[in-house]
Amino acid sequence: MQILSLNVPDENWYMDTGATSHMTTSQGTLSTYSNLSINKNIAVGCGQEIPIRGYGQTYISPPYPPISLNNVLHAPKLIKNLIYVHRFTFDNNVTIEFDPFGFSVKDIQTGIPLMRCDCTGDLYPLTTTTRHQSTSPATFAALSPTLWHNRLGHHRANVLSFLSKNKFIECKQISSPSICQSCIYGKHVKLPFSISNSTTSKPFDIIHSDLWTSPILSSAGHKYFLFFLDDYTNFVWTFPIGRKSQVPSIFSSFHAFIKTQFGTTIKCFQCDNGREFNNEYFTQFCHKNGMVFSFSCPHTSPQNGKAERKIRAINNFIRTSLGHSSMPPSFWHHALRITTYLQNILPRKILSHHSPTQYLYHRDPSYTHLRVFGCLCYPLFPSTTINKLQARSTPCAFLGYPQNHGGYKCYDLSNKKIIISRHVIFDETQFPFAKTHTPSTLTYEFLNDSLHPLLHYHLQNDSKQDEPEPPIVESPQPATTPASPINVTNQSI
Ligand SMILES: [Zn+2]
Repeated sequence: MQILSLNVPDENWYMDTGATSHMTTSQGTLSTYSNLSINKNIAVGCGQEIPIRGYGQTYISPPYPPISLNNVLHAPKLIKNLIYVHRFTFDNNVTIEFDPFGFSVKDIQTGIPLMRCDCTGDLYPLTTTTRHQSTSPATFAALSPTLWHNRLGHHRANVLSFLSKNKFIECKQISSPSICQSCIYGKHVKLPFSISNSTTSKPFDIIHSDLWTSPILSSAGHKYFLFFLDDYTNFVWTFPIGRKSQVPSIFSSFHAFIKTQFGTTIKCFQCDNGREFNNEYFTQFCHKNGMVFSFSCPHTSPQNGKAERKIRAINNFIRTSLGHSSMPPSFWHHALRITTYLQNILPRKILSHHSPTQYLYHRDPSYTHLRVFGCLCYPLFPSTTINKLQARSTPCAFLGYPQNHGGYKCYDLSNKKIIISRHVIFDETQFPFAKTHTPSTLTYEFLNDSLHPLLHYHLQNDSKQDEPEPPIVESPQPATTPASPINVTNQSI
């Protein structure tokens, strides 16, 4: 057993690979306790023997789920609480990776980090800092459940309460559920019940795919979006496109991305409505890359309908987001991007309350930078680009989080251009498009697949008045990570 030379007893637990039991100096650290009826001792490194008074159990909490320490011996003469590493990994189904700066506790099956603890001197203390540590509470104050509901893209109340309960976000107390009109309008379509009968054991064993046709052209000329869903992680990728002929090149880029980023290939490709993939090019591609593919009719089994169900869920969120912000229907591709982004970072019950990002990338997503889609915002122009008499900002509508950039995508209402900036002031109570567009439930019904074809026709014609896709203007200093924006919610600007 390791000899500890420090004199001052403390309440921390220390990892000890040489210990043969968990041991504590204080009975108070244990949640259950039994006295030992016979005299037993622990032999320590210098040959001395230390008496054991009793034994019990305790939990290290957080993380989620809590980690348990079973059969902990109570020896008051010890100077440190020790963790028997082998028992710890065995009882909690975790692995521990030590490095010069500390150690990480990971889920044994998924590899998802549950805790990261830093060294103190030569010792490895188990600090109760958790995977949520990166979210500094000082960076954001407690906000209302309604504001978080809007920021999280109108996901169900259980997502919000999980994030709040586990300190991912600072949210004021969630009382009785308030009614969100946008949710009622946007998500009134009842989705088929999702059954998890997945047989996959790692990412990219099965990729589900589908192509959705939009009756309304996006302001950038998109008529479709191509969709990939990883069966194991539930991670989603969406690609708005203008022509079906773009499908093969997007698929091969996606395949290359998986190969480069994850060092693997797709084992099985499952397409619900396989017309776009049922061709010579795709067949050859699969043969060359050893990929099995299957085309199936939706509804023949719960597994086959997985992509279709997910697309319908995404469309419901798009409709809700557009409706809540009164954005034009032709902005559906912006709502699609932000919805996809949120789908991948929010916890899912089916993943034991982990997010697809945690499953695929083994890192915790952050939520502090999230803002409400379509709200009023003011990106700050860098002082080098303006003279003293020019305004330092301009009113914009918030469009989302740009790919490959930190910061925010803002739609300049005066010149209809997109500005990407990391320094943005938000007013999440105001929605610029609400002044120019009258929201109606009908406006966004094109996202409902069960809509009557005649209504599709009318909406298609109406959409011709929509504005063309604006050019993108990047602020001269794009950031690589999302900024900590100045938030002026509930304040007058
Ligand atoms: Zn809502």
